[in-house]
Amino acid sequence: MTAVGWINEAHRHSPWGDVRVAVAGLGVSGFAAADSLVHLGARVTVVDDRDGETERDKATLLGILGADVRLGPGSTSALPEPVDLVVTSPGWRPDAPLLAAAAASGVPVWGEVELAWRLRDPEHPAPWLAVTGTNGKTTAVGMLDAMLRAGGLRSAAVGNVGTPILEAVMDPEPYDVLAVELSSFQLHWTYSMSAQGAAVLNIAEDHVDWHGSMAAYTGDKARIYERARAVCVYNADQPVTEQLVRDADVVEGCRAVGFTLGIPAVGMLGVVDGFLADRAFVDERQSAAAELGAVDDVSPPGPHNVANALAAAALARAHGLSQRAVLEGLRGFEPAAHRITTVGVVDDVTYVDDSKATNPHAAAASLRSFDSVVWVAGGLAKGGRFDDLVGEVRDRLRGAVLIGADRGVIADALARHAPDVPVIEVADTEDDVMDRVVGRAAEVAQPGDTVLLAPGCASMDLFADYNARGDAFAAAVRKLGHS
Ligand code: ADP
Repeated sequence: MTAVGWINEAHRHSPWGDVRVAVAGLGVSGFAAADSLVHLGARVTVVDDRDGETERDKATLLGILGADVRLGPGSTSALPEPVDLVVTSPGWRPDAPLLAAAAASGVPVWGEVELAWRLRDPEHPAPWLAVTGTNGKTTAVGMLDAMLRAGGLRSAAVGNVGTPILEAVMDPEPYDVLAVELSSFQLHWTYSMSAQGAAVLNIAEDHVDWHGSMAAYTGDKARIYERARAVCVYNADQPVTEQLVRDADVVEGCRAVGFTLGIPAVGMLGVVDGFLADRAFVDERQSAAAELGAVDDVSPPGPHNVANALAAAALARAHGLSQRAVLEGLRGFEPAAHRITTVGVVDDVTYVDDSKATNPHAAAASLRSFDSVVWVAGGLAKGGRFDDLVGEVRDRLRGAVLIGADRGVIADALARHAPDVPVIEVADTEDDVMDRVVGRAAEVAQPGDTVLLAPGCASMDLFADYNARGDAFAAAVRKLGHS
């Protein structure tokens, strides 16, 4: 039980010196949480089972600042006592012993997002424009941030995207607005956020093992809409997201605005004759639309990125941005690496790295972006299913080259739904697995085809992460070009 009665009303100017906080996990957000809390005077204990060089470096720094850091196996098995509050890293499962112990003894558990929301500077509380979804978050948030900057605002892309929200919130130079990427894990531990604008891009099966069920996963995503102030943006092509808006308890006057890849109804954003059209934030919306740019202004290409651009534009327009700022932002946006990045053209075959397509829903969107594809896929499937995907895209497939622990899952789906598509499986025992993959893909590809790395799986069975997988693919393509 927490000894601090006011903890559920805590804010930046609370007497933090009275609070004993356990920070669970010393990753990017754990470090930011510990750093901010020590800065405010709280008594902080940080625990992490890992004890590598990165953790030790961070521990040294936090130790100097006055935190008690406990690293190594066993350090996370129990709740440090006494404790008034736990701040957890998003990756930690709710059934982790320390979190379960906190729940059992009535100690509140917050994520870094909850802490950041409470620690906003009351003098300059930058509004949050928040984005979640199974796929497209980083891209949409990057686009939104580019639009906000083009509109002359001091903005930052923060959250799941890499820069902790706390870093922006604690920055002595205030931001005008924040473009916030939120994962379902982060939303799970968030209770009081009241975003200016909130968007759910899409919902598909992912991380169900963490959340326990698809309903729980969806429920955590839905939390983004709770207490929204100005706008809830939903995907009109995916009615479940609209239902989440209907079910949410929002601030009075908050609007619901849909986006669609089709022609927008009144009150929505969509696509008309190859242009992004806004029929929500224009005066004459019954009869007119505002043009926000061409589909060709969207990069990376592909219908899913047009959807991301429309969602970002809806949040930006709700925040008062002009058509011009939206267009300039779209044109100036530089996509993050490994998300439909062309890494080479060899013998009239284009090689595209979408290593970030780590689940079947993302891989499907990626495959839909190209007409004739040699598909490079496989890795850790995390329980993902590929039958619908293969059934949908089989006519685009010139062939498939499969790698990784769960390649058999994809091979089975191809055998069931696309038996005529040639499938090559590459064993993982080879060090140069990507060289072999690219070599085999090049044999299958015809001039004009795309060889697309869109694995539909996580990478950790063969690579450090999706970046390393994409880099290995690009390096193999370079070698192919020089051979
Ligand atoms: P996230 O941050 O949600 O992981 P990213 O913007 O990094 O999303 O994109 C990850 C991958 O998901 C991309 O590489 C692409 O394959 C796919 N993707 C992006 N946007 C969408 C979307 N709106 N719908 C489906 N898939 C998408």
